[in-house]
Amino acid sequence: MSSNLSNSVLKWYKKHGRNNLPWKVKDPYKIWISEIMLQQTQVNTVIPYYLKFIKKYPNLKSLVSADLDDLMLIWSGLGYYRRIKNIHLSSKIIAREHNYNFPHKYDDILSLPGIGRTTASAISTFSGFSNKAILDGNVKRILIRFYEIEEENKTILEKKLWDKSVSITPLKCTSDFIQGMMDIGSVICKRTNPECCRCPLKSMGCSYNPTHKREKKIKKKINNIKMNLIVLINQSNQIYLEKIKAGKLWQGLYSSPTFTLNSHTNEWMLRNNISDLKPIYRSNIMHRVTHKKIMFNTFFYFLKNDKKVSLSSKNWYNLADINVGVPKYQDKALVIYRSEYEKNNV
Ligand code: SF4
Repeated sequence: MSSNLSNSVLKWYKKHGRNNLPWKVKDPYKIWISEIMLQQTQVNTVIPYYLKFIKKYPNLKSLVSADLDDLMLIWSGLGYYRRIKNIHLSSKIIAREHNYNFPHKYDDILSLPGIGRTTASAISTFSGFSNKAILDGNVKRILIRFYEIEEENKTILEKKLWDKSVSITPLKCTSDFIQGMMDIGSVICKRTNPECCRCPLKSMGCSYNPTHKREKKIKKKINNIKMNLIVLINQSNQIYLEKIKAGKLWQGLYSSPTFTLNSHTNEWMLRNNISDLKPIYRSNIMHRVTHKKIMFNTFFYFLKNDKKVSLSSKNWYNLADINVGVPKYQDKALVIYRSEYEKNNV
């Protein structure tokens, strides 16, 4: 059964697989960058980021000497910023422990920050170093449906799925097989409305019926948060941004000051001698991060050149060319400011 399944997947992949993706190369460095970007992000979103990243940092040497702020800037908008920090950290480890050569041994790859079993298997197998099975979300979904695997206990389920994935993964053409499984999961055996009629596994006896069977959805509890976002623009067309401190969400990126309490907002305004200013615009910006829904109550202030404030002169960035990474909510605030500015200056 498993060899029939792998043959069907390989046959399908040869004809329909997404072979033209820019990271379909044998360079483990490029595969590593793409695999980290693809963690929790769709292929189409990743492509432009990947191309830009590889153009600027074509190899490990160029990456090792990069400043984390510059890496955060290039990653800006892709989200899950821990990934780029782990890439930065890993590059130093590879330089120090592997003399700037991406490791070939599976265990060495697995030991790098931000790399779990599936990512290590994908990098190692796509680079031609090993023949390892993977278990990403797409492969899990296919296995659960195809083999009708039901298990309440998450740990036991994970083990069952890994065992199954290992048992069906062929030792020959492993790279094409796992890529084929990922592609089928992504374009055919989708979370909702799987297109079974064009799936190569249908004729292999997959009896999953999307109209009869409903997979249990685990509802994640959404945490609603309210924050104040203070956007300061000065007469020289600069915006005031502060680096987000360690331990906070979006740490390492730059943002307009944020506060969870009105009293803290007022204290900060008073301390910096801007409490007498009236906001020129106000807006509510909604931003969703995994299980958090954050409402930014956003106040835009305009500072004339003669206004004496206690803010550091180093924290002002040219609005036309912000050369540091900013979170998505900050981008949304900038879009609002520009559209309000245009409306009021026509
Ligand atoms: S036949 Fe349908 S449910 Fe089964 S693996 Fe293919 S797409 Fe998924």
